[in-house]
Amino acid sequence: MGVGGPLPNLAAMTDLPTAQEPDSHEWRELVKPIQPYQARKEYTCPGCESVIAAGIGHVVVVPTEAPDLRRHWHRGCWYKEQRRRGITAPPEAIES
Ligand SMILES: [Zn+2]
Repeated sequence: MGVGGPLPNLAAMTDLPTAQEPDSHEWRELVKPIQPYQARKEYTCPGCESVIAAGIGHVVVVPTEAPDLRRHWHRGCWYKEQRRRGITAPPEAIES
């Protein structure tokens, strides 16, 4: 029949380290705060898809299993994302 279409099987091509990971949906991530003086470039925030201008303090999120996939987020967007995932951030960490 017509199965096995032209979709490239990316998962088969990437060597994902899935061993010893009981909860595959729970990524471990390092979240590093970037101070305004450290922000020398513009980044695109994956949360709101707008630009984080140079000189704006934000956070960089680095998946421990895939450091190449690190993302720069607005602080507010990152905390919203965490809440969406059901992780509650300490209220003092949220800056408005
Ligand atoms: Zn954002």
